[in-house]
Amino acid sequence: MSGEWPVLSASGRRRPFAIICPMNADLHCHSTVSDGCLEPAAVVRRAHGNGATLLALTDHDELGGAAEAAREAALLGVRFVPGVEASVTYRDVTVHVVGLGVDPENPALLAGLARVRAGREERARRMADALARAGLGGALAGARRFARNPAMIGRAHFARHLVASGAMPNVRTVFDHYLAHGKPGYVPHRWAALEEAVGWIRGAGGIAVMAHPARYCLRLSASALERLFDDFMAAGGEGVEVVAGAHGPEEARRFATMARQRGLLASVGSDFHEEGESPVDVGRCHPLPPDLEPVWHRLI
Ligand code: AMP
Ligand code: MN
Ligand code: MN
Ligand code: MN
Repeated sequence: MSGEWPVLSASGRRRPFAIICPMNADLHCHSTVSDGCLEPAAVVRRAHGNGATLLALTDHDELGGAAEAAREAALLGVRFVPGVEASVTYRDVTVHVVGLGVDPENPALLAGLARVRAGREERARRMADALARAGLGGALAGARRFARNPAMIGRAHFARHLVASGAMPNVRTVFDHYLAHGKPGYVPHRWAALEEAVGWIRGAGGIAVMAHPARYCLRLSASALERLFDDFMAAGGEGVEVVAGAHGPEEARRFATMARQRGLLASVGSDFHEEGESPVDVGRCHPLPPDLEPVWHRLI
């Protein structure tokens, strides 16, 4: 395939043809293995249909979709990177760390993620109790119907149930009124420690990337966000999502600057879950600023 055509870069290192013919990468998306709505193979087909040439499936706390996605990607000629989005609690704030290029069979990574997943059932019960107190009864049974992987029940499944039941107009409104931090259906939960999650990812041969950092600004001051990145990098974190489904142009510029200042690898991800629910479709991300070092230089 022409995408494999090796050329020499200015530094003399061999670079794939795709560096000249820019990569259409999407390194953050979800399937039914966590809280996406398409099966892993269907996510890959959709990404391919949208022109993606490099794709990572990054389900929350789960690698169960990697084999199916990799098979479909091979059939379609899409380069596939096994990934995961690990849930982390950092100073009482939930933070997501994307692991790219991990070995999906690494025992320590799998064991760590299994431990993180194990807390979800009890959390879902508390969430349902909190929603019931807020006048929305029966939400656990409803959410379960949307959680194709029962071990991964999460807020998106509750949100979809509340929309389908007619209680709320759309998923975004459910989060704004009930499920976002501080709202009546939100319950605190302790996920993995930052150092643990980064350690599992690196131990499995992967690159740890800070997911959608602008989303933490509601709960972390500018200086606390810098400290998060200090701690993330001290733990071995190497990348940051500059272009993310949740980032507007201003936020992409802000984190491009941070990537330059800190020497972080830059990543790109739609965070696609479902048509009509996710702001950016899988495989339809904006390009990175050309001076940044893309994380895929270390993945392919
Ligand atoms: P959980 O891991 O169960 O806390 O769920 C987190 C997921 O909820 C995210 O990955 C998104 O899929 C979804 N989510 C979080 N905040 C929002 C929001 N404001 N609007 C829509 N979906 C959201
Ligand atoms: Mn999600
Ligand atoms: Mn996330
Ligand atoms: Mn995500």
